[in-house]
Amino acid sequence: MRPLLFAANWKMQVDPAEARRYAGQFLGATQPAAGRSLWFFPPAVSIESAAGAFRQRDDVRVGAQDVHWEPKGAFTGATSIPLARGAGAAGALVGHSERRHVFGETDEETGRKVRALLGAGLTAFLCVGEKLEEREAGKTEEVVLRQIRAGLAGVDPGDMSRLVVAYEPVWAIGTGRTATAEDAAKVHTALRAELGRLGATARIPILYGGSVNVGNALGLLARPEIDGVLVGGASLDPDGWAEIVGIGG
Ligand code: PEP
Repeated sequence: MRPLLFAANWKMQVDPAEARRYAGQFLGATQPAAGRSLWFFPPAVSIESAAGAFRQRDDVRVGAQDVHWEPKGAFTGATSIPLARGAGAAGALVGHSERRHVFGETDEETGRKVRALLGAGLTAFLCVGEKLEEREAGKTEEVVLRQIRAGLAGVDPGDMSRLVVAYEPVWAIGTGRTATAEDAAKVHTALRAELGRLGATARIPILYGGSVNVGNALGLLARPEIDGVLVGGASLDPDGWAEIVGIGG
C-alpha cells in the first residue's frame, strides 16, 4: 500500500475544549493504518490541547496554520516557530490561499516561512494554487510553478525531506467545486517535475485540497500522482473525517 497523508485544516474553528472532545471521538472511531499519516492543523490557541489529546497515536501529528519566520520579537498577533513547537506543533501550513488572498501574504514571505520551518527541523506544508481567473487564462501551471519556486528559494535540497506540497486551487477551497482527479493529477505532475529541477531527491508528498469530501476523496486518492488530501470543511466532523481517512484502506 503506498503512503497516504491526510491533513485536516480546522481554520478559525475548534477551541481547546472542542479539540479534546473531537480527538476523543476521532480516536474512538479510527485505528492506525499502515502507510497512512494524519495531521491536524488547529487554530494556534488549540494546538496544545490537540497535541495532548492525540499524543497516544504515533500516526497523528499536529501543526500550526501559519507561523512567522522570526523566532521572537514585536510581531503582535503572530506565532513564532518556537512558540508553536512549544505548544506541540511538529510543522505548519505555509502560504494557504487564505493567508495569501485574505491576509496579503506574498510569495517572498512564504519562502521565508518555509526556510525557517525546515531550518528548525519542522515539516512545512507549502500550499500553492491558482485563482479562477488565472485558471481561465490558462495560467495554472505558470502560477503554481512560480509559487513553488518562490516558496523553496534558498532551501537546501537536503532539507526537502521535511517538505509537503499541497495543490489547492483557490476557486475550489470552501466552494463545493473540486478539480477533477485528472486535472489535479496533471498539476501534480508539473509540480513534481519542478521539485526535481529544484534538486529534491526525496519523494515529496503532493496533496490535493479544495472541497474534498467523502464522496470525491476516493477518486482523487486513486490517482498515483495524488499522495493525500488537505481538507477544511469536511474535517470538522470527527466521524466524517474518520470515514475519509479510512477510505480505500
Ligand atoms: C483548506 O482549508 O485547505 C481547504 C481545502 O478547505 P475546504 O476543504 O473546505 O475546501
